[in-house]
Amino acid sequence: MTENYQLATLLVQAGIKSDEATGALVAPIHLSTTYQHPEFGQSTGFDYTRTKNPTRSTLETTLAKIEQADYAIATSSGMSAVVLAFSVFAPGSRVVAARDLYGGSFRWFKQQEDQGNLFFTYTNTEEEMIAAIDETTDVIYIETPTNPLMIEFDIAKIAKVAHDYGARVLVDNTFYSPIYQNPIPLGADLVIHSATKYLSGHNDVLAGVVVTNDLELFDQLMYHYNTTGPNLSPLDSYLLMRGLKTLKLRMEAATKNARELVTFLENHEAVKEVLYTGKGGMISFKVKDQKRIPSLLNNLNIISFAESLGGVESLITYPATQTHADIPEEVRASYGLTDDLLRLSVGIEDIIDLKADLKQALEN
Ligand code: PLP
Repeated sequence: MTENYQLATLLVQAGIKSDEATGALVAPIHLSTTYQHPEFGQSTGFDYTRTKNPTRSTLETTLAKIEQADYAIATSSGMSAVVLAFSVFAPGSRVVAARDLYGGSFRWFKQQEDQGNLFFTYTNTEEEMIAAIDETTDVIYIETPTNPLMIEFDIAKIAKVAHDYGARVLVDNTFYSPIYQNPIPLGADLVIHSATKYLSGHNDVLAGVVVTNDLELFDQLMYHYNTTGPNLSPLDSYLLMRGLKTLKLRMEAATKNARELVTFLENHEAVKEVLYTGKGGMISFKVKDQKRIPSLLNNLNIISFAESLGGVESLITYPATQTHADIPEEVRASYGLTDDLLRLSVGIEDIIDLKADLKQALEN
């Protein structure tokens, strides 16, 4: 009964006992796109890889377990996971979303709104979100902590209100990962991840996940998945599985480093404000002199100036021109995403080197 295993064990067990024929400890990568039928009218359970692939299925078994859910679907990117999750909602659905979210999700939401497919109400705080939910609401969309302002939303509280009005709750769990948060037991109906980030952890896989406990939703998701093909390839399924094995270690190491960097940044005279929830590897901070941001970014040696997050390597992002560039400047400024903000994805390098690198770049 693997259901009772602890999270670290479930992660390391990914793929083990998946190939009874050989006993291979590491899950095989099944590249075949098609599968021979034993006889007319029979199937091995695998027919065509867009529908189901053995390597991907093995990965999905672990993904469901670590999110404490019944079903998981691995997709080709975080964005295809977002699009797949929304496929279960009818055209014209009304969405209440947290304003502070990944710019790429915002870009797709805007496209949906412009095309008249989905309608959005954006809210800045948990209180505003709860107040915005009513009988016309179909979906609540939450990234918690928010990106990049790092504000936590109470999933259980919001899910209760949403369900009272018959709305569904969709949570993007990319930032915390299952190490710090399982939205399904808290009441979320659907969970998505950009598995490109913490789940894979090495900046070498583009992947996404959709998770649910609801068989009806799962059937709708699978229908759409099989029809439109946002699949994760067998090789990437394998790489993601390998990354998952160290998720707990990586997340703990990143959190330890992040906590030390928060103390360092809070005490540095060039820094105006530090935004951190206390757990995870994501920190945002605002600098006093915005004009110095280019030189700060140019002078970093260990921390790479790059988009993305959640890998073993520390990355620094300037949301105004990178991840959140598709959100108009005045909209960004209206909710606190100002142009003096930098976002740091803290990796697992030695803290001494990370601190020294930030210090010299801030003081350059
Ligand atoms: N959700 C969050 C919170 C993200 O940060 C990202 C990407 O940065 C996405 C979704 C989209 O994922 P992907 O880049 O894997 O398509």
